Amino acid sequence: MKLILLGAPGAGKGTQAEIISKKLGIPTISTGNILREAIKNGTPTGLKAKSFMDNGKLVPDDVIIGIVSERVACEDCVNGYILDGVPRTIPQAEALEAAGIHFDAVISIEIEDSVIEARMTGRRVCGKCGASFHITANPPKAEGICDLCGSELVIRKDDAPETVKNRLKVFHAETEALKDFYNKLGILKLVEGNQPIDAATKDILAALGV
Ligand code: AMP
Repeated sequence: MKLILLGAPGAGKGTQAEIISKKLGIPTISTGNILREAIKNGTPTGLKAKSFMDNGKLVPDDVIIGIVSERVACEDCVNGYILDGVPRTIPQAEALEAAGIHFDAVISIEIEDSVIEARMTGRRVCGKCGASFHITANPPKAEGICDLCGSELVIRKDDAPETVKNRLKVFHAETEALKDFYNKLGILKLVEGNQPIDAATKDILAALGV
């Protein structure tokens, strides 16, 4: 099963990807997490990506395409994977198609900007493994600590209100067109994002027919 989770920043892609990944036994590939790790490790990719990410801009397509091509070739991807936060532009989607990578389904998590802006202030992420929490909608078992790896939870720098506004603008300008792209391929499915996490998961699994 090869899946794409599409949606605005804060729509719940990371949270749903984590749940579905466990259910289906396939890995999640989050370019955001890979880039944050690269920045932490001071790699050349991280150095290239940092200023774009800090400002809520998109990292150039060639960097993203390189990261994804390398990751999907890994052994744990043989039975499929979930793409979270990629593709984000038409050229990225075209590059995947050109590489012969075809998807079973593209789930678009639908949610209004105003709901997202309110949501983002409560988001906390694990500084180590990238797992995503929310102080009210999805709190960790122990405050400030990741349920999965026990590391400290942090506020993402790009979750600052002004940066969120910018990221939403970028989403509407660059990423939303992907819905049309995948609709034409007949694999787009829409799921309501403004509902409790388990209800959205149920809708996603129903849309996938699993
Ligand atoms: P995310 O964790 O998916 O919200 O991504 C955080 C940031 O990483 C984005 O705001 C972009 O700056 C960058 N990024 C992640 N994935 C992509 C992508 N597919 N294309 C371009 N930039 C990306």
